[in-house]
Amino acid sequence: MNDLLSLEATLTLPSPCQPFAPEWPGSNKINLWVKRDDAIHSVISGNKWRKLQHTLKKFSHSQIVSFGGAYSNHLHALGFASKELGIPLTALVRGHESATPSPMLQDLVKWGVDIEFVDRKTYQQRNTESYLAQLERRFDSALIIPEGGSEASAIYGIQEMVREVNSTVAFDTIMAPVASGATLSGIVSALTPKQSAIGIGVLKGEGYLENLVEQFLPLSDCAHSMKTNPTQNWNINHSYHFGGYAKVTPELREFCDTFNRTMPFHIEPVYSGKLFWALKDMLSKGTFKQGANIVIVHTGGLQGAR
Ligand SMILES: *Cc1c(COP(=O)(O)O)cnc(C)c1O
Repeated sequence: MNDLLSLEATLTLPSPCQPFAPEWPGSNKINLWVKRDDAIHSVISGNKWRKLQHTLKKFSHSQIVSFGGAYSNHLHALGFASKELGIPLTALVRGHESATPSPMLQDLVKWGVDIEFVDRKTYQQRNTESYLAQLERRFDSALIIPEGGSEASAIYGIQEMVREVNSTVAFDTIMAPVASGATLSGIVSALTPKQSAIGIGVLKGEGYLENLVEQFLPLSDCAHSMKTNPTQNWNINHSYHFGGYAKVTPELREFCDTFNRTMPFHIEPVYSGKLFWALKDMLSKGTFKQGANIVIVHTGGLQGAR
């Protein structure tokens, strides 16, 4: 436990919530802030710390097993935290071992994480009961954490992020990228009645992503989704996935490059790049009410762009 306290002492929490004033068409009509969860820590950044926090605090197993791709922000954050906390970690990585491992995998090796490559077919079973039971038998007394750290308890850490925002800005709308949906669920479940949330889907998943978000929501909040209730307080915009998860167009790359040259903080093309592109586009279309207070959650993940 002392290890956890010393790890937490190295984190910048609460993370900054900074005014943001880009010279983009339409931006002068509203007030913008960026919740800088990317600034929590140089390695354990963003929503991955938020999602793991509760699990690591309650940790009482002998080891951890988790999943991800070769660029996974989740495995990167968990790998570093496990090293710091002295917890043995096995990372089940989608795909085959490559002669040129990604920087993320190189870091895991450096931190003493056991890496096992899993073919795509097996990886697809990562949430099925029979596969998980098999892993439980193989990895005795292991805590198995789902891909992305997206388990039910992950939303507590996200709720804390929203509480931090609420203590600095009386916002109307908060925006965040959506992949597994746990982050948006945590946000929605922490909104006050007059606040709303907009998720930006970073993969092709109309309907699918909404279901993922609802799966983590307390039942009472499900009723607020746009599908079932006209007084919705959250929705997911599917216009900005750029063809799918981790798909990038030259325009998006150019947007991120210009952003990183001219703005006070950095973005990457998989999550935050699509989020800020969406913001810019929505501003130009006059999506937000005049004078609205909007918070953009920078969920981190810059390591993935290496
Ligand atoms: C994992 C990740 C997300 C997606 O969050 P979900 O809870 O899976 O929807 C967003 N941004 C970054 C930087 C991430 O690493």
